[in-house]
Amino acid sequence: LVSREHHAQRSVVRVGGVPVGPDVLSVIAGPCAVETPEQTLVAARMAKAAGAALLRGGAFKPRTSPYSYQGLGEAGLRILADVRAETGLPVVTEVIDPGHVDLVASYADMLQVGARNMQNFALLQAVGESGRPVLLKRGFSATIEEWLSAAEYIAQRGNLDIVLCERGIRTFEPATRNTLDISAVPVAQSLSHLPVIVDPSHSGGRRDLVLPLTRAAIAVGADGLIIDIHPNPKVALCDGDQALNEADVAELADAIAVLSALM
Ligand code: PEP
Repeated sequence: LVSREHHAQRSVVRVGGVPVGPDVLSVIAGPCAVETPEQTLVAARMAKAAGAALLRGGAFKPRTSPYSYQGLGEAGLRILADVRAETGLPVVTEVIDPGHVDLVASYADMLQVGARNMQNFALLQAVGESGRPVLLKRGFSATIEEWLSAAEYIAQRGNLDIVLCERGIRTFEPATRNTLDISAVPVAQSLSHLPVIVDPSHSGGRRDLVLPLTRAAIAVGADGLIIDIHPNPKVALCDGDQALNEADVAELADAIAVLSALM
């Protein structure tokens, strides 16, 4: 269902009215995790200034360590809905438990399935039945074929509104958190009709790499970006090392405008 053999034309997925697909570079930006109403609202305004049309923010966080910040749960979803009402930005947020899909779908415009859950088949089937578009991140040890098979689980349940996200894979290289597999973008686009976006924040894990990886993603033809930003990354409760601050956001907006005009 997700292959180009089934559907030759590349698809456009609409998220709260915002198109994600070929011929538009859709930017999703916001905090890695929702912490407070003020932090989320300021981050959303920064996201808008960067040219983002969609707001990201995690309320249910899939953390490697059980001692790390786990997110605000439903209270975080309420904050996201309030910030959407204030800014007009549709909300993209992660769901980590099949039993939470209805709850998260009642607040969100798009459900994110994260790298750690790419092969959580019960979750894939549940988001497939949610009636919401899905952002499917590539697992950090998944091949492109496994990633597309995961998308097929969602599609099989009647939901073809799926956006694929390359977010870096685990390699032998410790200088970056993950290695952005830039070739996965054109490869996935050639095998599947689904839009393919890039996460330059989680792939490098470093603020100084977000801009270079953003440029690479645009140059290779990615259909969009998902980027972490925070009003004060030093005190971020989650992934502050990769979050862009206000000055970085201005540079990001310039880089995106210049490069998209060239493409
Ligand atoms: C995220 O985007 O908040 C996240 C946890 O990303 P990933 O699943 O790619 O690690």
